[in-house]
Amino acid sequence: MDLRVLGCSGSIAKDNRTTSFLLNDRVLVDAGTGVGDLSLDELAAIDHVLLSHSHLDHVLGIPLIADSIMRRRLAEPVFRSLRVHALPATLEALRRHLFNNVIWPDFTRLPTPGQAIVELVPVEVGQRLDLAGLHIEVLPAAHTVPACGFAVDTPSGWWVYTGDTGPNPPLWQRLRGRRVAQLVIETAFSDDERALAEMSRHHCPSSLAQELVQFDAETRVAITHIKPGEMAAVTGQIAALGIDRPLFALARGDRFSF
Ligand SMILES: [Zn+2]
Ligand SMILES: [Zn+2]
Repeated sequence: MDLRVLGCSGSIAKDNRTTSFLLNDRVLVDAGTGVGDLSLDELAAIDHVLLSHSHLDHVLGIPLIADSIMRRRLAEPVFRSLRVHALPATLEALRRHLFNNVIWPDFTRLPTPGQAIVELVPVEVGQRLDLAGLHIEVLPAAHTVPACGFAVDTPSGWWVYTGDTGPNPPLWQRLRGRRVAQLVIETAFSDDERALAEMSRHHCPSSLAQELVQFDAETRVAITHIKPGEMAAVTGQIAALGIDRPLFALARGDRFSF
């Protein structure tokens, strides 16, 4: 499996893009501002979007992708919708707050209600999906809104993305005994903002360390969702905790093959 990191920042600033990962050119995992760097051809090649939750930094690309690719898709011999897979509460938030004809036109009914460019597909935690040749499992997450993560089966083991989450014992239970090729886990805040991290159900370096002791020590851990301007503080605090395992901060533009 080919993985492109389009965005892995907790917010925007020059050279920072919010969460978005592209798998085998056809499956997008979250649709943050990173999608804006894709060409129109690359956007039009995407068949599926997996959404971890409804927060703006993860969903804002969907209405804009729909607008960009609709003409292309209408010109194709067989019409393909963009299938957006997420928890029912996340889909309801998209309908109510994005595709509401106020923030953006309702692309779940355009160009025609019978042939809409965006198709919303509910999933639940534990469900297994086969999308564009990839075998994917929906994982539990613990955030301020209903949220999930995703695991993708690859020849090198599972690629695991936690989504936005605070402490999440059910996740470690579910991953126990599995071969994981890479764990992408968020650390949105530095330890200076530990109270804020707890309140907003995100990780900071000290809570990350408590989580990782519950997880296989061999797996390479990739840190995501660090806020712009906080990279040095977060990575410095993680290093100071002396977490004894391979660990690094993801960067926009990283590519991996699993
Ligand atoms: Zn969030
Ligand atoms: Zn986020």
